[in-house]
Amino acid sequence: MSFASLGLHQDILLQVQNLGYQTPTPIQQAAIPAVLAHKDLMAGAQTGTGKTAAFALPLLHQILSTEGDNPCAIQVLVLTPTRELAQQVHASFEKYSANTSVQSVVAYGGASINVQLDALRKGCQVLVATPGRLLELIMKNLIDLSCLKTLVLDEADRMLDMGFIIDIQRILKKLPETRQTLFFSATFNDEIFALSKTLLKDPQLIEVDNRNTTATQVEQTIYTVDKNRKSALISYLIGSKNWQQVLIFTRTKQGADELAKEMEKDGIATQSIHGDKSQGARDRILTDFKHGKVRALVATDVAARGIDIEQLQYVINHELPYNAEDYIHRIGRTGRAGSTGIAISLVTEKERYLLTDIEKLLNEQFIPQWFPGFEPDLNNIDQPTKRREPSKKELRAKALGFSSSKDKKTKRKRR
Ligand code: AMP
Repeated sequence: MSFASLGLHQDILLQVQNLGYQTPTPIQQAAIPAVLAHKDLMAGAQTGTGKTAAFALPLLHQILSTEGDNPCAIQVLVLTPTRELAQQVHASFEKYSANTSVQSVVAYGGASINVQLDALRKGCQVLVATPGRLLELIMKNLIDLSCLKTLVLDEADRMLDMGFIIDIQRILKKLPETRQTLFFSATFNDEIFALSKTLLKDPQLIEVDNRNTTATQVEQTIYTVDKNRKSALISYLIGSKNWQQVLIFTRTKQGADELAKEMEKDGIATQSIHGDKSQGARDRILTDFKHGKVRALVATDVAARGIDIEQLQYVINHELPYNAEDYIHRIGRTGRAGSTGIAISLVTEKERYLLTDIEKLLNEQFIPQWFPGFEPDLNNIDQPTKRREPSKKELRAKALGFSSSKDKKTKRKRR
């Protein structure tokens, strides 16, 4: 199948060609005709499958086909869980509409609302926003969504995880009821289905991969290693294999900062990115990472959403996530749109249950390995730190002045 056979506007086709996209990815092949047919969509696709173009290209086509109707009105609204993803989606719309007069604006919290308002006032057909900031704009009557034709919920699973459900419900009340709704989620569970039911009318279900699967192009390796040797192993892997542009996940913001410091000490240019850093700082760090000024980026799950680096090859999990579904999102940062990727996860013996959760979710079994020189210390593995309480029998023996069976064995050996 070619892009031309999908019947997209010629200005879009030209741009797709300029970008070097040769064939539509499976999600694009399935979603583009459905969107063009004005169907509601429930699409299971993780980041890296080309899902942004799967909705952006046909929606741009629709805008171009009705050009002249009301050129300054917002026709497409894309809701994303994070500012990074919002920026990413906005950048994609700008990229795909470069040959056209279509304008996209992005609005998210943590940045000046006035700058965003100025952009809105100039007029746009596409608005990409995070729920909190959009709600603020709606409640202050600063935005007109009465001409909206399509709502896209991108990474709906993450929006629910981040507690945006109330915000989303409040936003929905302010949108025209007659509209097309496109629902994208990397993972599915009952909560996701419940939300989709309230939003979609007779949706077309599209699943390009099995539900809850990882990107197939990613080679996944698990190393069992002691907690106190994890950062050394990461630095060693990056240094000895000469890896550039490595994205590393930690569970906590503090953990991200600590790991980045350790790696800097090991001579690897590293930065951390998480919710405690200002938007400006996060943008700067991401740009430095994209341009190779920073070799390793340590991120928390939330901060890493929306990081789209075309050739990102390496993802390392310093710790496995508590939520098994996050594993899919994490390793989906690499192996994007057909390229291959490597995902390494470091696991202590105590964290093995998290691996079991992931195996259950993916219906796949991993064989953890030891990395030579970083083998776990078997003497330390899950040794209870507290001394073992003596049994009743041992206490009685002690009280009566008898030696325990262990003592007897040692005495016998000594002889
Ligand atoms: P996404 O899943 O939307 O985050 O897209 C992942 C990456 O794939 C982005 O960097 C896109 O530029 C790229 N991409 C999207 N569609 C195609 C395509 N048909 N051929 C090649 N690359 C693509």
